[in-house]
Parts: sequence; C-alpha cells; structure tokens
Amino acid sequence: MGALQRGAGAIFGGVRAQSTRLSPQREIEYGEAIHRALQNASSGGIRLLSDPQVEAYLRDLLDALEPMRLSREIPLRLYYVDMDESNAFVTMGGFVYVTRGLMRNGDLVVDEASLIGVLGHELGHLDMRHGALVAELMEQMGILPGDANTGLSVVNLLSIQRRVYQRELEMEADAYSYVRLNQLGYSNLRVERAWDRIASAEERRRGPQREGLAGQLERELQRGASTHPPSRERSCAYRMMLREQPPPSSQMYRGTANFRDRVSAFRRLD
Ligand SMILES: [Zn+2]
Repeated sequence: MGALQRGAGAIFGGVRAQSTRLSPQREIEYGEAIHRALQNASSGGIRLLSDPQVEAYLRDLLDALEPMRLSREIPLRLYYVDMDESNAFVTMGGFVYVTRGLMRNGDLVVDEASLIGVLGHELGHLDMRHGALVAELMEQMGILPGDANTGLSVVNLLSIQRRVYQRELEMEADAYSYVRLNQLGYSNLRVERAWDRIASAEERRRGPQREGLAGQLERELQRGASTHPPSRERSCAYRMMLREQPPPSSQMYRGTANFRDRVSAFRRLD
C-alpha cells in the first residue's frame, strides 16, 4: 500500500462524530442564540433573504443528504443570507447558512455537484459535531456562545472555530462529503474543481468591506476560508480519496443544466 492510499484510509477513518459532553439540546439552544445574535441589527447584523425558489432548491439537496447523516437528532435549519461572499457556513445546532454570493457569483459553484459538495462539507462539520467542540471550549473559557452583547461574541466564536477547525477537521468534512456524493451519484471531480476556484475567488474579493457585524463576519469568514487547506493540498487529498474510493461509475452526475435552470429561475426575479 502506498503512502497516498494510507493517507486516504486515514482520512476516511476519521469520519465520525466527535465525542463531546455537550448535549444535542444544549447545542441547539446555542445555535439558536447565535442565530439571533447574527441578526442583531443594532450591531449591523446579517440580513436573511426570503427566496422560496432558492431555499427549495437548497432544501432538496440537503434532503438528499439527510438519510446519510450520522445522527438525525439535531434537525437542520437552512438560511439564505444577504452576503456578497461566495460561502456557506455553519455554526452549531443544525444551523446552515448559504450566501447569496455562493448562488449567484458563478465563481465557486457552477453546477449542482459542486453545490451539493459545499453543502456536504458544511453538513459534515455539523454532523460530526465540530461546533459542539467549540461550544465546550467556550464554556470552559466562561463565554456563552451567542451571548449577545454579542455581535462581538459571534465573531469571537467564528475566530475560535477557525483555530479549532484544524486541517484534520476540514479533511474529515471533505471525506464525509466525498463518500456521500459517491453514494448519491454526484461527480466528486466537479467538487475538486470547485475547491480549486475558491482560492482565486478569495483573492479577487479583497475589496471594500462592510462596517459593523456583517463586515466583521465577512472578514472572519475570509480568514476561515484561508485556513482551509490550500487548493493544491486539497486537490491532492481529493486525488487520494478518488484513488481509495473511486467513483462507482465514470458517468457521475454534474447537474450543470439543472443548476443553471434553477439559478436562472430566481435570477429573473432581480
Ligand atoms: Zn470547513
């Protein structure tokens, strides 16, 4: 067995829930508190968008992943966020956020396979309870997640999360997503290309940023993205996974037309 294969085996072996003393109920409560703090208008919070077509599309993809979760004890809650940044992020307790930029910029996500790959990665963080680890850490530090004087503590949370979500956890989230996409029949090659696009998209985005909580959050997300393994390294990890668990068919689903159709349907609403 070569080093590459051993590496991939180690990646897949890591895909399991973290052991944490935080109860699912407590994690959900924290997720709710963080959700309220994120929107705290007085500190320039994020704005949620209501777009039934986008939300239905994202919900369809999450529903496809749902039966393959490690545990369904914590229900998923999806929010569409008014941010230019091409990103999706999770906090804890089942809260999934997808930005307008991710759906519309066309820099990161260009087909359904890469979109579900992004969602699968984020779902991996939630499902393996990476956020609960952060919450436990915060409790030990005497900070309550979402305690909302509070805009600040949301950013603190993301900052702590960025430090705690080390490379291993990122790779676990990738591996989590990888096996599920194979099972569903989506093309992981398209996901690999999508992650490659992240780095260049980030460099282009370093423009003027918003003030207040939304601006702080954007900057934190950008820093977070930069601690994701560099694209070359990530592609390498993907190649290891492709070798260790090859796609079951050479004709995996990309969903380019499907994504375009469902995107253009709501683009017309602008
Ligand atoms: Zn991640």
